[in-house]
Amino acid sequence: MTSIEQRTSDWILAERARYVSAGVSTPRLVVTGADGARVIDADGRTFLDFAGGIGCQNTGHRFAPVVEAIQRQADEYLHQCFMVGVYEPYVDTCRLLAELSPCAGDRQKSILVNSGAEANENAVKIARAATGRPAVVVFDNAFHGRTLLTMTMTSKVHPYKAGFGPFAPEVYRAPAPYPYRGITTDDALDGLRKLFKSEVDPQTVACVLLEPVQGEGGFVEMPPDYPARLLELCREHGILYVDDEVQSGVGRTGKMWAVEHYDGVEPDILVSGKSIGGGLPLAAVTGRAELMDAVPPGGLGGTFGGNPLSCAAAVAVLEAVREPEFLSRASQLGDVVRARLDGLASHHAEVGDVRGLGSMVGFELAEQSPDLAKAIVEAAFERGLLLLSCGMYGNVIRLLPALTISDEELEEGLTLLEEAVAAAAA
Ligand code: PLP
Repeated sequence: MTSIEQRTSDWILAERARYVSAGVSTPRLVVTGADGARVIDADGRTFLDFAGGIGCQNTGHRFAPVVEAIQRQADEYLHQCFMVGVYEPYVDTCRLLAELSPCAGDRQKSILVNSGAEANENAVKIARAATGRPAVVVFDNAFHGRTLLTMTMTSKVHPYKAGFGPFAPEVYRAPAPYPYRGITTDDALDGLRKLFKSEVDPQTVACVLLEPVQGEGGFVEMPPDYPARLLELCREHGILYVDDEVQSGVGRTGKMWAVEHYDGVEPDILVSGKSIGGGLPLAAVTGRAELMDAVPPGGLGGTFGGNPLSCAAAVAVLEAVREPEFLSRASQLGDVVRARLDGLASHHAEVGDVRGLGSMVGFELAEQSPDLAKAIVEAAFERGLLLLSCGMYGNVIRLLPALTISDEELEEGLTLLEEAVAAAAA
C-alpha cells in the first residue's frame, strides 16, 4: 500500500500509465476536487477551468441543485433499468426536454441514453425507422462520437478513425460552411447538391446531422442563412434534419439550444448530451411523437440509459438553465470573452479568427498546425488555467468556462489566457 502522502500527481500519473490503456489520451492534470469554475489537483494547485470536462459543466462543478438532487435520489433508489421499472426522474427529464424542444411539431418525446455518441446512433436508428431510408449525410469538420457509426460520421482521421475501419456503410459527407477558410453557405450547398448527383440519391437519405456550432471541428458556427437553407433542401427531398447539440446545447450559447439562434429553423430531431447531466453521464434524442414512436418497443433502450441519478441531475440542470437570467448571463459572459479575444487578435497576428455563439467562443490560429495551440494550452496550464484546443488542424483554442463563473473569476481566467498567448507566441 502507498501512503496517502505519496499520491502526488506524478505518482498517480505513473500508476495511470501502468494500468490504464494508452488509447485514452493523458492530460497532465490529476483532479482531486472541483467546485464551480475551479478544479484542484493532487498537488493542491487550483486551476480556473475553461475546459469543463469538455463542455459538460455549463452549470459549474458540483452545482448545488444538482448535488442536492443526486443526494436525494441516492437516498431513494439507484439503478433500476427503465425497461424493467419505470421511474419518475426519467419521465420528468423527457417532459422538460419536450417543453424546451426546438424541434418541429407539438407533441415531443425523448429517449435517454448514456453518451452523445449513443444518442447520435439512436437518432440515426430513429430516422431510418421513420423514413425507411438507409443513408446518412454528415459534414466536413463534424464530430459525432467514437462508436463505429459515429466514428464513421466524424470527420477527422487522426486520432479518431485511423486503423479502426472498416467503417459503417451509407454515410456520406458534404462540405460545411467555414467562412474563415473561404467556404460559404453557397459553396456548402453546392457541394451537397453535387453529392446528391454523384454519390447518393437524396430519396434514399434518412437524415442529415449538423452541429450548429461545430465543437471538436473548431468552434465553427454556421453562417446565419445556412441551417435554414439546408432545412429547405431537406424538406424538398423528405430528409430529416438532426441537430447535434451535444456540445452547443444546454445554455452554452445564451439560448437553451444553439439552433434557436437561426430564425425559422425547427429541426426534426435534437441530440443533447454533455452538460445536460450536470456532471453525470446522460444524453437524449428528442423529436415529434410520430418519429420517436416509429421504432417498435424494444428497438431502443439500454441497461443504464437514463439512470435515475443522471435524470435527477438533469432535471435540476434544465430547471436552472431555462431561467431567462441564466441564459442572459451566458450571453453576457460570451460578450465579455469575445471582446477580450478580439483584443488578443489585434495584438497577435498569430490569432486569425475569433468566433462562436454566446459563450461558445474560441479563436483559430492563422497557421494550420497544432504547435502554437499546444504551446498556449501548456503555458495556460503552467499559469493555472485549463484550456482545450480543437479543430481539424488542432489550431483552435476553445473556451468552455462554467456559465456560473463570477466576473472576477472570468477576468482572472482571461488575463491568464492573454499571458499564456503572449508567452507562447513570443
Ligand atoms: N456530438 C458532439 C457535437 C460532440 O461534441 C460530442 C463530444 O465531444 C459527441 C457528439 C460525442 O459525445 P460523447 O463523447 O458523450 O459520446
